[in-house]
Amino acid sequence: MSEALYSTVLPSPVRAPRLLLCSPSLCEDFGFDTDFCHSERFAQLMSGNERFPGVSPFATRYGGHQFGNWAGQLGDGRAINLGELATRDGQLLNLQLKGAGPTPYSRGADGRAVLRSSLREFLCSEAMHFLGVPTTRALSLVLSGDEVVRDMFYDGNPQYEPGAIVCRVAPSFTRFGHFQLCAYRGEEALLRRLLHQCIHDDFPHLAAPSLTSGEHVSQDIMLRWFGEVCERTAIMVAHWMSLGFVHGVMNTDNMSVLGLSIDYGPYGWLDHYDPQWTPNTTDAVNRRYRYEAQPEIALWNLYQLANAVLPVLQDVPEVEAILKSYPLLYENAWLEIMGRKLGVQNFGTKEDKALLSELLAVLQLRETDMSLFFRALAQAPLGGEVREDVGVLAHAFYGEGEASGEHLIRLSRWLQHYAARVHRDAQDVCVRRTQMNRVNPWFVLRNYLVQEALDLADEGDFSRVHQLHAALQEPYIEHHNAPGFHRKRPEWARHRAGASMLSCSS
Ligand code: AMP
Ligand code: MG
Repeated sequence: MSEALYSTVLPSPVRAPRLLLCSPSLCEDFGFDTDFCHSERFAQLMSGNERFPGVSPFATRYGGHQFGNWAGQLGDGRAINLGELATRDGQLLNLQLKGAGPTPYSRGADGRAVLRSSLREFLCSEAMHFLGVPTTRALSLVLSGDEVVRDMFYDGNPQYEPGAIVCRVAPSFTRFGHFQLCAYRGEEALLRRLLHQCIHDDFPHLAAPSLTSGEHVSQDIMLRWFGEVCERTAIMVAHWMSLGFVHGVMNTDNMSVLGLSIDYGPYGWLDHYDPQWTPNTTDAVNRRYRYEAQPEIALWNLYQLANAVLPVLQDVPEVEAILKSYPLLYENAWLEIMGRKLGVQNFGTKEDKALLSELLAVLQLRETDMSLFFRALAQAPLGGEVREDVGVLAHAFYGEGEASGEHLIRLSRWLQHYAARVHRDAQDVCVRRTQMNRVNPWFVLRNYLVQEALDLADEGDFSRVHQLHAALQEPYIEHHNAPGFHRKRPEWARHRAGASMLSCSS
């Protein structure tokens, strides 16, 4: 495929589409009422069996670097775009069916997706949205009624699994890889058109108000566009880092120019704080996409995007200057979020940064659950009796026994410094706690919780899936009717496939 950015393609029909989940908030945004969302027609539309009137579905062409190597043309191999739909307040959002059948970019694969990966994508994209992380959304998850063959562990044991289709929603699905493939193929005119269109459609605030599609865009606007892509990417990754989220496959084809988290495959959340952790079995040896590497990998990916758009942007020194500003953009975003998580105002001095790095070091002295620790921190009395503070945090520690040895010494010292810093703000305790509870989730979508829900779903029991879906829509409040959602990863889940690490098979 050359000199073309997309191909029209129709979804392939499925046997018996049945709605499993839909996003109440997106349905409301689109003005869909409950009856419509639970109608037969909705399931038909969301599986691709029926088409929205006037829609001409298409799949797009992109390339990408996978695990650091140029992989050539990839494209929407199992994603079919339905075009834009307006929300009630006039925002245009793109709908995309993932798993709706082969496209010209399928490269011999079946264009389908299985229930387990579709469910993981649906739940995580919605969870990220409600955690305030820039992300693509999921409108619906439909069981196709067909079976799909997958070799989940790549060990020569293919199995039939239930097929499913997720309807993804985003202002744009444009990826770094869309630009990269044009550049790789030397299609400069197409690259320029894509960039102009991207600015026009997805960055209208940068374009002159009178700009119409296809019109000349100044060099200055294009540079500002690149600067904004860098900033949005930095902000997205800072969110991930603050929550202990690991994307798992940060290939350049999985990077959105809008700085949205996209393509939820073998992602995961840190249970105990381990900077080296990756949920992706395919990456278990090199750990390229491990938690701590994410900010740097995002920059590496931005360099690839920069290389791709340079023929159009031309201004090498300015592009380099923008790339060089990324570490500061990232650090500012990170400190801003971490200051809020710690309940500290105007966070960011040299002493503050030292306080934060000491905390991250202390969290590694004994396995400590990252989400539980931050959630509990708001409850520490900080009244000068450090033992009481440690007691409040103790349920975040893995393993047996109380804090002791070097861990206890350094944690205590850290708590003293932290208490002093908090008291310097002279902020009302209740106000601080309320603010901290708004940024430190009570509930995150731990892999083992999803795996347990999937195990039940395999037996036809979707109750746990619905419980997870309910909890993730309000991650900051305590869900006392959802036992087990606010606790450490149980020991059995430490190494079990699906509950800890995942393959790319989906
Ligand atoms: P991913 O690892 O999911 O980001 O996928 C990498 C590329 O492979 C993308 O271009 C996907 O569209 C494509 N792909 C993955 N799975 C399938 C499938 N079952 N059928 C067709 N294309 C696929
Ligand atoms: Mg992908």
